[in-house]
Amino acid sequence: MRIGLGYDSHRFEAGRRLVLGGVTIPDATGLKGHSDADVLIHAVIDALLGAAALGDIGSHFPDTDATWKDADSAQLLAAVVAEIAAAGWRVGNIDATVICERPKLRPHIDAIRARLAALLGVGVGQVSVKGKTNERMDDTGAGVGIAVHAVALLEPAAAGGTESEKRI
Ligand code: MG
Repeated sequence: MRIGLGYDSHRFEAGRRLVLGGVTIPDATGLKGHSDADVLIHAVIDALLGAAALGDIGSHFPDTDATWKDADSAQLLAAVVAEIAAAGWRVGNIDATVICERPKLRPHIDAIRARLAALLGVGVGQVSVKGKTNERMDDTGAGVGIAVHAVALLEPAAAGGTESEKRI
């Protein structure tokens, strides 16, 4: 098994849609970013790539590349899951903590988990998403933006080891 850690943060920006885990949150201020700024999917992507030692989101989808302007992060996640599968891994589970003072996430958590599970090709019981405030401390607590921590566990997709293990 392999474990990976991901982190991302984005500032709020008026006039943009808020997308978290591939789900549009209604009546909420969106986030600034080159893509759709889905901070949760970005952290999950880095956790997955980290677990497979396949680099990071910036090396796969550079924000200097116009291809990824306003990109749908759900499509980026699907591409990463395919790359990880090609390397011989499948997702064991994901756990993420989304930190913001607003909006309240609880009403949206189940929809986000279901969407992430579909994108990851796993059951919803393998995807955990937790919302927390930062108790009004620091910039996240002052409502400047949203930060996400995520971990991912990968398992070999088939007996006989992964491509990366065979190279050792
Ligand atoms: Mg990001």
